Amino acid sequence: MAQINAPKGTYDLLPEDLTHWYYLENKLRQIFQEYGYAEVRTPIFEHTELFQRGIGETTDIVEKEMFTFPDRAGRSLTLRPEGTASVVRAFLEHNLAASGGISKLYYYGPMFRCEAPQAGRFRQFVQFGVEALGTEDPRIDAEIITMAVNFYKRLGINDLDINLNSIGCPDCRPIYRQRLIEHLRPRAEKLCSDCQRRLERNPLRLLDCKNPICKSLIEDVPLITESLCESCGSHFQRLRDLLDAVGIPYNLNPRLVRGFDYYTKTVFEILAGDLGAQNALCGGGRYDGLVEECGGSPTPGIGFAAGMERLMMVLNARKLLPQVNPKPHLYLAPLGEAAQLKVFPLVIQLREAGWVVETDFQNRSLKSQLKLANKLGAPIVGVIGDEELAKEQILIRRMDASQQQTVALAQLEGFLKEEFSH
Ligand code: AMP
Repeated sequence: MAQINAPKGTYDLLPEDLTHWYYLENKLRQIFQEYGYAEVRTPIFEHTELFQRGIGETTDIVEKEMFTFPDRAGRSLTLRPEGTASVVRAFLEHNLAASGGISKLYYYGPMFRCEAPQAGRFRQFVQFGVEALGTEDPRIDAEIITMAVNFYKRLGINDLDINLNSIGCPDCRPIYRQRLIEHLRPRAEKLCSDCQRRLERNPLRLLDCKNPICKSLIEDVPLITESLCESCGSHFQRLRDLLDAVGIPYNLNPRLVRGFDYYTKTVFEILAGDLGAQNALCGGGRYDGLVEECGGSPTPGIGFAAGMERLMMVLNARKLLPQVNPKPHLYLAPLGEAAQLKVFPLVIQLREAGWVVETDFQNRSLKSQLKLANKLGAPIVGVIGDEELAKEQILIRRMDASQQQTVALAQLEGFLKEEFSH
């Protein structure tokens, strides 16, 4: 029968990969905890409307990348394409604002987008991210950017490009938007079909079009930074002062807009040069209108989302992943059926006491069991044949030396404690 493979744009993580994933997961949980962010876990599917309202009807994600399906009662559900809308929904649903102060939350888990798969771009991928809800203070913008940068630095990635921009607020952005439309309208027919569509509906998105013709047509467009209102301008200046104070270098990139409608004021991206076309490790920004859009009272917020796969690609290419090779403490080699009956409960008992113990399940010969123990990296092998059984003993062989000794079965755990005490 024909074999069935994983769907396009998905991948399997095998045991060896997962040692690296656990390493990263621990690192990110550690830094989030240190900066005061607590985890939330939301469902991987939500009502479609949440993303339509939250992310925006005219974004690429909502227009063409969502995995949307009806449930059995005909309600439209969508596999989450990003984490922020769900976190905001949960924040409102559980009234987290009631505890007062700011809510500093993080998430980690799979996201789903029906994009064209390529290196660093999948249809199911894992994102981790943070959201800070309840303050407009630029110090929280600076904290979030600093935390993201420091996370990558802790992993050994020091040559990051940090792109920073402010895209204004509902007071100043519409004026800029209009200037942009007026500037580009005379050249509209030369734009790519996506940009022609975006021109009237979501013109800021033209600024990050990758099409070379569009790129050349937008070279001389007015820049958002010249149109910021007083409040957005001073917020942006304060953020830059704070980043300077903490020593985080950044590039001002007035063309950085990002793919979600909910952003206001601060937007940023962190890039790693060696990722090629899909070079963004992480992206985020402020979304002061999103909570209201999702049905809550006006609450400012800011966050970022970062991809695990791209991070893994960079760490792998730079050999920055630790070689974790979990090895058993002990390999128990039974010889014959009677010995197997003795060894089986012993293996379980030792494991329950916290020892990592391997044994044979295939009636192998002693020679082949020793080979297996060697392959698994067990430093000690305990052999039990008829003679040892009769004496209630075990023959201990150290793999790095030729000498061997016998230990009473009842003393085996004490022996292991002694062996591994240093
Ligand atoms: P976004 O949610 O689009 O702002 O993306 C934030 C980060 O998530 C990106 O910088 C990538 O690291 C990662 N990411 C986004 N989309 C994908 C995808 N389709 N496959 C893998 N990683 C992705």
